[in-house]
Amino acid sequence: MLGIVQARKGPPGDGNMLGDFARRLEKLEKQVAKLGLGKCNCKVLTFVVPGREDEFDAEMNRSCPVHTFRSLGNVMRVSNGPKGDPPSPRMSEVLAKYKQRQADAIRARAEEGRKIREELLAGAVKES
Ligand SMILES: [Zn+2]
Repeated sequence: MLGIVQARKGPPGDGNMLGDFARRLEKLEKQVAKLGLGKCNCKVLTFVVPGREDEFDAEMNRSCPVHTFRSLGNVMRVSNGPKGDPPSPRMSEVLAKYKQRQADAIRARAEEGRKIREELLAGAVKES
């Protein structure tokens, strides 16, 4: 979202609606940063260890203050047995749950982006 807004940002006070929106957004982001909120806690790598699936479940239930959905990055399943051991039912359950939530979050984010673009374009059309 930021990329779209920043790419079209005009100089201050030029009546450019997108520019005004970007400046308001920047101001809000600075205020949030000062409050100490909005620190991303997403991960780049998470291991799922047999017998410790509840820990993974707890990790996936945390949300990110910035992205709402907390990405656990690359999820690596640790195997106790020989390579290729099938995951336990509980392991399969938590992995499937995370995968579903991740897909839902991606879909929701795409939908949010589409709505914002439509609103910005509708505003831009009204302005001219
Ligand atoms: Zn995050």
